Amino acid sequence: MKVYLDNSATTAVAKEVVAAMLPYFSIEIGNAQSVHSFGQQAKAAVENARREVAKLINSAPNEIVFVSGGTEADNLAIRGIAEAHCDKGRHIITTSIEHPAVLATCEALNENGYDITYLPVDRGGLLSIDEVRRAIRSDTILISVMLANNEIGSLQPIEEIASLVKEIRDNGQKHLHFHTDGVQAVGKVPVDVRRLGVDLLSLSGHKIHGPKGTGVLYIRKGTRITKLLYGGHHERDRRAGTENVPGIVGLGRAAELARVHLDERIDRVRELRDYLEHEVTSQFEDVRVNGDKLHRLPNISNLSFDGIDGESLLIALDLKGIAVSTGSACASGSLEPSHVLQALGLSRQQVRGSLRFSLGAFNTHEEIEYVISALAETVTRLREMSPETEPIDTAVP
Ligand code: PLP
Repeated sequence: MKVYLDNSATTAVAKEVVAAMLPYFSIEIGNAQSVHSFGQQAKAAVENARREVAKLINSAPNEIVFVSGGTEADNLAIRGIAEAHCDKGRHIITTSIEHPAVLATCEALNENGYDITYLPVDRGGLLSIDEVRRAIRSDTILISVMLANNEIGSLQPIEEIASLVKEIRDNGQKHLHFHTDGVQAVGKVPVDVRRLGVDLLSLSGHKIHGPKGTGVLYIRKGTRITKLLYGGHHERDRRAGTENVPGIVGLGRAAELARVHLDERIDRVRELRDYLEHEVTSQFEDVRVNGDKLHRLPNISNLSFDGIDGESLLIALDLKGIAVSTGSACASGSLEPSHVLQALGLSRQQVRGSLRFSLGAFNTHEEIEYVISALAETVTRLREMSPETEPIDTAVP
């Protein structure tokens, strides 16, 4: 049996999405900027997709900018605000558990004279609003805090941070902006940009059963931002380059499916995830759930197996046809232990013994049963082989 539990890395493209995209590779071949009917047809498809994405996150269609993915959306948001408002200040606040798309962008800005504050999180991976308040200075131009973390799924208090930002802006600091990386949250929990109160939100097509190489930056109307790519006047002059029409069409269809099936998908993945977690934590000793259990995505379970090397467990499961991950896909390949789990205060050994199980819309109960039985075999075997058995400490709330 093959079981894919690495949906936070990427998801299977839904068959409806593939069907929607296909004509745009062969029949509907127009460039969305062309004046003729082929062009107009492509343009209409792009605008239809824009309306679908806007509906998913409750924005206006003209606040949606199509980009190449979550990484570009994060870069555009952070560098775009940094450059456009550098005359007002060069201070940016973010967290220590952001995705590399945010952290590396901030590091690059730091090399160019920007000052970056990395806020810590608690044992459950949550940010304190007081810490945010204390970090804000008169030269702060941007706060970038992820909506949901990609390794542990913790959901940050975005609405509260947005209220704080509004309070500070109302007191005169108009150059303060708020960006959230919503790549892991969109399609997994309700995301409403008006309710959240953010200025910018990043999302990625391939995390919501859409195609890879597609994404969106939501830019609230009236937000001044510079562009990353220069060229034609595409995307209301915010992102130059011929539109990826098939990709955008696929992203639009994926957004529509995510909106229509959101509640049912949430209930299903949560039930499966909770079942997996319950069985694993009750069948095996010394397994802890990482991250806050209350403020968390419904589809992620990050577990630390005491006395086991996560990498060995990953490989053993892979041999049984099960795909999971240690840390995030973007951090794999680096020998550094997960910066997210380290920020929670886990010991090196606990970090090493951690695995992320991330579910998607297409997982079944039968698959989860198979994973539990595979773990039962593998965990016991690996523990018997392991020389180290340092006990883990108490569970996170
Ligand atoms: N932000 C978060 C939280 C992510 O999890 C990812 C991808 O894993 C990204 C950004 C980057 O998105 P993309 O793969 O579309 O570039």
